[in-house]
Amino acid sequence: MNKREHVINAVALSVGLAYLTHPAGDATTARAVVGVAVPVVLGALVPDVDTAFGSHRKTFHNLATLGVFVGYPLYFDNLELVWIGVATHFVLDLLGSKRGLALLYPLDSAEFDLPIGVTTGSRYATGVTLAVTAVELAIAAALIAEVPRQLLEGGLRAAGVF
Ligand SMILES: [Zn+2]
Repeated sequence: MNKREHVINAVALSVGLAYLTHPAGDATTARAVVGVAVPVVLGALVPDVDTAFGSHRKTFHNLATLGVFVGYPLYFDNLELVWIGVATHFVLDLLGSKRGLALLYPLDSAEFDLPIGVTTGSRYATGVTLAVTAVELAIAAALIAEVPRQLLEGGLRAAGVF
């Protein structure tokens, strides 16, 4: 996808994530929107750096790049949410556009793709971007609702409550 669609996707995903985690709709929600959107939008712009340095859809469109941004905060205690932007960039490139990604680069240059999506120049690109974002938010909502409940139940079970 294009930079415009990646930014739309990252901003919409960030607003949705902020509301899912801070649903009050008050100043804490607004603070969460800014706190999530800035690192996620930056992360969503990272993979296309390979249009200038390296090979596009290979050098920074792979699982190793995503792994760096997942692991970085564990060692350096910052950039905690940037990986979400990198991950959503990959999802949008896979689901929203026709060309695939070399997810295993540099081990393998084969490009993975899904048989759906539009060309990056399509007049439907923004609509597809918003549809992909809606699917991402539905998955995030399910995870936010289910994972804490399971953690709570696991903790209660471990504590011998039931
Ligand atoms: Zn890309």
